[in-house]
Amino acid sequence: MSRKIAFVGLGIMGRPMAVNLLKAGHRVTGFDLSPASVEAVVAAGGQGAGSIAEAVADAEVVITMVPADPHVEAVILGEGGVLENVRPGALVIDMSSITPQTSIKVGRAAAEKGVRTLDAPVSGGEAGAVEAVLSIMVGGEAADFAEAKPLFDALGTTVVHVGPSGAGQTVKAANQLIVAVNIQVLAEAVVFLENAGVDLSAALDVLGGGLAGSTVLNRKRENMLKREFAPGFRIDLHHKDMGIVTDAARAVGAALPVGAVVAQLVASARANGDGSLDHSALLRGVERLSGREVA
Ligand code: NAD
Repeated sequence: MSRKIAFVGLGIMGRPMAVNLLKAGHRVTGFDLSPASVEAVVAAGGQGAGSIAEAVADAEVVITMVPADPHVEAVILGEGGVLENVRPGALVIDMSSITPQTSIKVGRAAAEKGVRTLDAPVSGGEAGAVEAVLSIMVGGEAADFAEAKPLFDALGTTVVHVGPSGAGQTVKAANQLIVAVNIQVLAEAVVFLENAGVDLSAALDVLGGGLAGSTVLNRKRENMLKREFAPGFRIDLHHKDMGIVTDAARAVGAALPVGAVVAQLVASARANGDGSLDHSALLRGVERLSGREVA
């Protein structure tokens, strides 16, 4: 069934996701602060809007994909935002990675207006968004999840309802913890192997086939081999996510000792000017620690 969807936030992730919804036969109206991003959706057969109000006015479903908590609050709760303009009964799906607390707050504010919400953050990066193979972890009511499932299936291949409002964000925080620690330790192995004079490409081939293999190794090995750090997923965003997981874990009494160290290393990468690089650039931090010149 073709749905009428408003898509707000057409960045690295949102743009290919909106395009995939169009490819699946849905009607998509896009809005972003950047007009060039809106034009990309129009070029793919969608509609463009000049404001959130215009985008959501007759939408059955609103999807938001913006950087962080303040953007989600501004877009959904703020003046001229989604809740002021969407029709009652609509389903608002926030796919940004934010704190579980903000998702719950947005859900409550929406419910007061008769609007339903899901938190549905994703994993899989830009490539996952382009190829429609994202993992999507969804918090909210089961009936709303069932309604949204065909849309999620147009965006990803692993789509799981993990619990009530906010639960999707909790699982995403765990995802970001695992990914950051994996990248950091892969970067440490790379510097170790290079310093030892081993052929790095050959080493990563064999490591990838054993227990040390991982999606992180498969997806990030070329960035590390070529020192190409165009994002992808920006260190600035991972810094935000390490803050979310640290905070959320503290709230439930879970200790994350290795995560805490890696959160500091992500912060250090940012402090050294690497915030706009892909998170595989954690390698540069390991190089600095090992006394190498980093351009
Ligand atoms: P991005 O910065 O490329 O895109 C965000 C977009 O939101 C921008 O185009 C920006 O103009 C737009 N925006 C911000 N405020 C807005 C507003 N008030 N109204 C309309 N548009 C607004 O970020 P991204 O990489 O696409 O990430 C989006 C979210 O997805 C983040 O929460 C991120 O943590 C998460 N995420 C990203 C990746 C990745 O690999 N890039 C992977 C998984 C999850």
